[in-house]
Amino acid sequence: MTYLDANATEPMRPESKDAVRAALEVTGNPASVHAAGRAARRLLEDAREVVAAAFAVRPEHVVFTSGGTEADALAIHGLGQGRRIVVSATEHNAVRAAAPRAAVLPVDENGVADMAALQTLLAGSPALVCLMLANNETGTIQPVAEAAALCRGAGALLHVDAVQGAGRLALSCAELGADSVAVSSHKLGGPSGAGALLLSSDAAGRITPLIVGGGQERGHRGGTPPLPAIAGFAAAVRAATGAGALAPWRDRIEAAAIAAGAVALAATVPRLPNTTCLALPGVRAETQVIALDLAGVQVSAGAACSSGKVARSHVLDAMRAGPLADQAIRVSLPWNAAEADVWSFAQAYQAMADRLSRRAG
Ligand code: PLP
Repeated sequence: MTYLDANATEPMRPESKDAVRAALEVTGNPASVHAAGRAARRLLEDAREVVAAAFAVRPEHVVFTSGGTEADALAIHGLGQGRRIVVSATEHNAVRAAAPRAAVLPVDENGVADMAALQTLLAGSPALVCLMLANNETGTIQPVAEAAALCRGAGALLHVDAVQGAGRLALSCAELGADSVAVSSHKLGGPSGAGALLLSSDAAGRITPLIVGGGQERGHRGGTPPLPAIAGFAAAVRAATGAGALAPWRDRIEAAAIAAGAVALAATVPRLPNTTCLALPGVRAETQVIALDLAGVQVSAGAACSSGKVARSHVLDAMRAGPLADQAIRVSLPWNAAEADVWSFAQAYQAMADRLSRRAG
């Protein structure tokens, strides 16, 4: 099996599995004052220290959540009150659905957000801007530091969805200048069920919670924290030290697909080292995904809904990709990819393109 769908979920790292196993043996609730509770609290705070150190944020400004979706929703609900909301056109649905009436920041044909348009959108009443670090479908990296400076100058807040960038790109919240940053465990080799919203000092002082409950996470997120998932998340964060080594294999995959007739989208701008978005003219993306799956190669088409159906990609539409928006697959290499995966993909893609392009053309 050749698993090339890391942007959907990364395989769990062995360090993370070990941490989950160890945490399963801890019985206490971190809110309890007795010895068992204190042991659980220690585990939780150790995990918080690891996440804080990795992303250059203060430990008390790490709010553990159930994942990236909740971290995005908390940022938008908690920082967006009384503000206009602006979201880039290629944000993940976790952001778009949490801000359905937001103004849309346009992107160019590579999916890079238009900074002149941002400047215009910032004029007027105070805003909350949502700009992702890297796109889940194309890998396009956004000019987040530039956006942060514009936001600061206009009195706007900036939320960065770093779910796809964290663990793959260097990520320092202190340097980024964002007010909040969303990260997710299962996108960097930890278990699903954990994530975090990382806050600036100012944002920590003003955010309102989405879930109130028992006042956990310094009142920012109620609910007993899932210790095994959080311990596994922290271990994965510690182990995930960048995906740069995957770029040469990604480039070989891309070259093989182009040789078989594909068009690589957003390939000329800075992007995630593990990701390529490949359109095969005339062949629907679902058809490609099924053909490759039958050949033992797992990739994805645009955005798979929870129903398993494939929706037309709003990301590629925003990039004005035209008919290619229905014909593009996402290939995303996992942290444990092997050179053999390049070869398997190239073989399967060539065979598929020979068969389906002929039929389409
Ligand atoms: N943001 C981006 C960019 C994503 O790619 C995803 C998941 O695909 C999410 C948010 C949601 O994260 P989670 O699956 O942890 O809820």
